Amino acid sequence: MEIFDPQIQILDPRVVDQIAAGEVVERPAQLVKELVENSLDAGATQISVEFGEAGRFVRVKDNGRGIQSQELAQALDRFATSKITQAEDLWKLQSFGFRGEALASISAVSRLTLISKTARAPAAAKIISDFGQRSELETIGGDLGTVVQVERLFENIPARLKFLKSASAESTQIKMVLKALALSHPEVEFRVLMESELVYFWSACLTKIERARQVLEIEKLYEGSAQRESVRAYSVFADPNTVAKTSKQMWFLAQNRWVQDRGLQAGVMEAYRHLLMHGEYPISVTWVETDPNEIDVNIHPTKAQVKFLDPSLAFRAVQASVRDTLEKAPWLENLPLQSQVQFKPQESPESINLKFESPVIENTQYRQKLSVQEFASPRKQYESPMSAPSVAVPTSKWTHLQILGQAHLTYLIAQSRTGLMLIDQHAAHERVLFEKLQKNYREGKMETQNFLFPLAIDLTAEAVEALLKESLSFLSLGLVIEQLGPQTLGVLSAPALIKESVLAGLFEKASQEILQNGGSYSFERSVGDLIATMACHSAVRAGQALSTEEIRALFEAMDEFPLSSFCPHGRPVYVEYSLNQLEKDFGRVTS
Ligand code: ADP
Ligand code: MG
Repeated sequence: MEIFDPQIQILDPRVVDQIAAGEVVERPAQLVKELVENSLDAGATQISVEFGEAGRFVRVKDNGRGIQSQELAQALDRFATSKITQAEDLWKLQSFGFRGEALASISAVSRLTLISKTARAPAAAKIISDFGQRSELETIGGDLGTVVQVERLFENIPARLKFLKSASAESTQIKMVLKALALSHPEVEFRVLMESELVYFWSACLTKIERARQVLEIEKLYEGSAQRESVRAYSVFADPNTVAKTSKQMWFLAQNRWVQDRGLQAGVMEAYRHLLMHGEYPISVTWVETDPNEIDVNIHPTKAQVKFLDPSLAFRAVQASVRDTLEKAPWLENLPLQSQVQFKPQESPESINLKFESPVIENTQYRQKLSVQEFASPRKQYESPMSAPSVAVPTSKWTHLQILGQAHLTYLIAQSRTGLMLIDQHAAHERVLFEKLQKNYREGKMETQNFLFPLAIDLTAEAVEALLKESLSFLSLGLVIEQLGPQTLGVLSAPALIKESVLAGLFEKASQEILQNGGSYSFERSVGDLIATMACHSAVRAGQALSTEEIRALFEAMDEFPLSSFCPHGRPVYVEYSLNQLEKDFGRVTS
């Protein structure tokens, strides 16, 4: 057997490119991202992306400034870039690409065709790299701009091929990347074809919210912005009726680059707290900007991470950008309830000025929570929520409904000029109690009632001890507690709004939470849940008869709180049938 001494060699550049390809284009979606970013860097206003075979075929065409024919071959060379010349440039980087490795890497692991024409050139030039083997330059006809076509990706690296996910998983990832790029560049037109079929066409837009409508395929979006010190956030989002089943429809762009970040996500989730049910997620896009010195967007090609110098500022800015608008519940502006309207039930519908529009677009992508989504109403003009400093919602929606009665001792029935409302009495009352308790708690004005004799609650000794340690916190909720025995807690006083019967369950729940979380228990964080529990167990039940007076009192309370269209668990409080829908159902009108 022959024995060779190990020798150190400089790697063949083609091998280097193949290795680099594994990093730069780990997955086809990465490749698509690199190519589209090149088009954006070239100032393109129209970009067309075709892909197929799970991303092993990709073609990107743009109308950007192009590449001069004498530089075409060079564009495929490693570390060839027109974007930086010296190390310091790295820090003031504006363009996406800068390493000059994308085309070199891709051309080593595929058959890549590059065609380009600049404004000055009389014709386009074309070069092909067949797994690193370069063709001669060829002059051909072509439009201004660049076409990069990639075929048979990874064919020469079987190991990589094996790591590709299913066709649908790769395609989904490619679509996500394209959506993110489109969100970051509303002014650019995108056309996307998958397996030769047009899947997206996003025309150029003037505003971010318009682009978000196209990309999310949701017509009704709301916006808000907030700033916390140097961190600015602008969000657009759907109302809490329109939700996603995963967290993937919360989009974030930090310094206009797509990032996935749990902290930012938590900000949006926190804003939607008590508006969504378990397993439901918001649909939103948030742009976050800050001083370049206070953020690090990791521009590693395969990761999209972000680090803020002060993550809590980012969290708070994001949360406020969504919450401030949500609290005004602008989607309620669709309710056709106006104070000057007099009800004349006997009036025939024809005599009412029916100017309906149907704002809900067919959308199978997301689950619509309400079964009745036809909010047919003359759309009132209202100022953008951003320009309205205080509560923008008129406060007489519910009180101006005409009460018709109660169905199945559970649903209140009322009518407005343009439709019928069915209200879940328990959910409505629960929401009202929740909001009142929250408000009193926040303002430190909890109305309490003292018990003549302390209410005794039997618990374990550890539970009693844990609760007593938090007794000051409970005091802020209007709950005065003391020890009655080693395993007995005494309650001396409780909020006037709640039923005595909720207290045993409440303290049991609270003690479990404290014991489970050990030292990291935070009363502030769990107080919302405690209040939700109190509200739920104190609200009128389904099956309880309510008088007209009681219903009216409930409606008055609902008018106090704009968020009263959802119970704290996120279930809707009411559904509405528009007259238009009724007339359709009875065949009186056809559209
Ligand atoms: P980088 O983008 O990091 O510079 P690439 O390998 O992606 O590296 O591209 C190399 C060079 O090719 C770019 O710097 C640019 O000059 C040119 N180029 C690539 N794609 C395009 C395009 N679509 N339009 C114009 N020039 C392009
Ligand atoms: Mg590039």
